[in-house]
Amino acid sequence: MSEDLFYKTATELRNLLDTKEVSAVELMHSVIDRTEAVDDQVKAYLDTNADEALEQARASDERRNSGQALGPLDGIPVSIKDLIVEKGKKARCASRILENFISPYDSTAMVNLRNTGAIPWGRVNMDEFAMGSSTETSYFKKTANPWDTGCIPGGSSGGSAACVAAGETILSLGSDTGGSIRQPAALCGVVGMKPTYGTVSRYGLIAFASSLDQIGPFSRCVEDSAMLFDAISGHDPLDSTSYSGNIPDCTNALKEKKGPWKLGIPREYFPDSLDPEIRTAVDAAIDTYRQQGCEIIEVDLPHTDLAIPVYYIIATAEASSNLARYDGIRYTHRSEEATNALDIYFKSRGEGFGEEVKRRIILGSFVLSSGYFDAYYLRAQKVRNLIRKDFNQAFQKVDALLTPTSPPPAFKFGERTDNPITMYLSDIFTINVNLAGIPAISLPCGLTGDNLPIGLQVIGQALKEDELFAIARDFEQAHDYWKLHPDLR
Ligand code: GLN
Repeated sequence: MSEDLFYKTATELRNLLDTKEVSAVELMHSVIDRTEAVDDQVKAYLDTNADEALEQARASDERRNSGQALGPLDGIPVSIKDLIVEKGKKARCASRILENFISPYDSTAMVNLRNTGAIPWGRVNMDEFAMGSSTETSYFKKTANPWDTGCIPGGSSGGSAACVAAGETILSLGSDTGGSIRQPAALCGVVGMKPTYGTVSRYGLIAFASSLDQIGPFSRCVEDSAMLFDAISGHDPLDSTSYSGNIPDCTNALKEKKGPWKLGIPREYFPDSLDPEIRTAVDAAIDTYRQQGCEIIEVDLPHTDLAIPVYYIIATAEASSNLARYDGIRYTHRSEEATNALDIYFKSRGEGFGEEVKRRIILGSFVLSSGYFDAYYLRAQKVRNLIRKDFNQAFQKVDALLTPTSPPPAFKFGERTDNPITMYLSDIFTINVNLAGIPAISLPCGLTGDNLPIGLQVIGQALKEDELFAIARDFEQAHDYWKLHPDLR
């Protein structure tokens, strides 16, 4: 068997496992060896446990060899972003304040994942509490982009994107509050998908902004993304915002759903200032669809440019409330300097949170404070509604929208850390989708002259993930971009 099992897709590996050309133990060894070989450069992982993963791989082989029922991802390694809790494992949110927190329970996404026979492989790095677009706000380490280790991998799920791109896992789970799956997927040249709000349980997802957060899949191809989405989605009574209606079975739908599609191009996502290489790649992607017989229609999403201010009011307001629980009293970091009760709060939070998290807590507390609530938070909620309506109107004419995922390709470490606003602007093409609660996927659509990946974003309609995946797959099959790997040894 070729050595590069670690670069295969879950779909390919499933066949190899089923025909017994490969065992789950061989696959796990390949991923472990690859991680050992390159993670010094990529720094995607916070923790791995090879013995435990191999034990699970052996159990998967036993199930297969003895003819027991197999789950759809049986024997496939999946890495986990450090904010999705896993029983008995540290869940730090890449923050000092949760440095020693070990989860006593499994998140629903983990329970669902285990039920598919997948092997949880390592906890991956992220921006602290998922606040950021470069993974530079992690308290522990800076993850590098496998395509150019002098560049950031995107964020906040930078560890997830980087380890899929580098062959250090087959699949990964991340979370997306304002673009944190799609943007790093774009910057690392992999597939990343944000589901419709409510389709994947948030139980055991450490909260950043509860009305926006969703767990979602990272993979190398669209079919794998659909499989992982199917694995983790479903109603969960433990999450009061969980959707209780029908969620499409996307893996099967991919076999049936076919274009040509009606696709919208929102003018607002192609400003004059757009990076010319990104414009060219996305225009070429639109042409691919045109050649497949799709109808391409220009649409307007007039409230697009209000999304950044609205997001940074709503997300910070929710964060300031969600992060109030880290008090230094219970399971969090406690300052050694504290000499009285008040000190415990102030000093523990002061030492435990990084600068970006503090900035968000302060902003959020301000917009919620009496006298300002109406002017900021309430108004932001009203504008959020207008943003939702923009999408609803567009979807009366089209099946999905095509846009770039990220305004810039991967940038150098430190390039955007001086001014937080420049970092926040990384999200202008992704946060609208979270505010509207709809699904979207980013997939590779080319490389820049500097050999850095470019992402195409397909934005779909609520609860029509089956169609979204089918549309993305139609582009993927027309090119080999998804087969490209970084030159990393
Ligand atoms: N970059 C955005 C932020 O910093 C989005 C993060 C996310 O989706 N978790 O808030």
